[in-house]
Amino acid sequence: TKVKVLVTGGAGYIGSHFVKYLVKNNFSPVVLDSLVRGHREAVGDSVPFENADLLDYDSLEKVIYKHKPEAIVHFAAFAYVGESVENPELYYTNNVVGSFNLIKAAVKNNIKKFVFSSTCSIYGNPLNVPISESEPAKPINPYANTKLVIEMMLKDFEYKYGLKHVCLRYFNAAGADPEGEIGESHSPETHLIPIVLEAALGKREKVFVFGNDYDTQDGTCIRDYIHVVDLADAHLKALLYLDKENSTSEIINLGTGAGNSVLEIIKRAEEITGKKINYEITGRRPGDPAVLVADNKKARKLLDWKPELKIEEILSTAWKWHSNPRY
Ligand code: UDP
Repeated sequence: TKVKVLVTGGAGYIGSHFVKYLVKNNFSPVVLDSLVRGHREAVGDSVPFENADLLDYDSLEKVIYKHKPEAIVHFAAFAYVGESVENPELYYTNNVVGSFNLIKAAVKNNIKKFVFSSTCSIYGNPLNVPISESEPAKPINPYANTKLVIEMMLKDFEYKYGLKHVCLRYFNAAGADPEGEIGESHSPETHLIPIVLEAALGKREKVFVFGNDYDTQDGTCIRDYIHVVDLADAHLKALLYLDKENSTSEIINLGTGAGNSVLEIIKRAEEITGKKINYEITGRRPGDPAVLVADNKKARKLLDWKPELKIEEILSTAWKWHSNPRY
């Protein structure tokens, strides 16, 4: 029988790509999503879908009782740094209380495998780049604080109840389904690659480049863009890892180990789209570190995973989606 996996936030950007990947690999996902920020259309009709909010504990327990998943992969969260600064209550409620309910329900229903969607923003302004998992966690905004609190919560619940878990700290998730069925659709959009492609489509007049006075080769920030399908593959491998008898709870970075500057992204996007992309240099965005690149040795070793898709494929699959978005 197929392994049943509860995917919270399965109608969101990364979650929906993971759900599609699970189906392709003969797993049996059940999606739980509040649809506050997710898209119903992002989940295939053949996948069981539960419209429920993690803040509603009784509904959550009913979903778990009904489907009896053997593992949970937890994506559901709010993820705008700026919004988290403006409205910390919203982030602590939605992310921390929601995750607390989920962890509580997992433990109560004897679910022992848990994969958590975490973030490299937990490292704040890192001292060492590439960033390994031994870099101290020093988040500099409420969003990243909520993710760190949840990681700590998982550790405490594992100690008492044996909830074995993997926290995956992603670098910059990007790209889309190569088939063009699903993709990134945030409102408002704040991420660089969608913004650049919207400029290529003429949906924006230009891209504002947030600072060119960083200590990098061209002065613009460098990020480690990782394809959402590579992320999906890592989550699947994290589930397989948790299945091993001798596996332990772990924190694992997910990135390619290479980075691109903002200006490089604009240039590569011009090549791939064949369109001129206008940009203007403006001031720095508060809280942006100059360089964030992953050391991904641990993921390669423990998960037997490696990123397969490069920046070209990230941009070309994202371009396919943005030129024909379904939602
Ligand atoms: N960025 C930019 N203009 C934009 C959006 C982003 O120059 O309109 C820069 C941002 O300062 C950062 C990089 O692009 O250095 C990636 O930003 P994004 O918000 O996509 O991801 P983050 O690294 O903040 O998670």
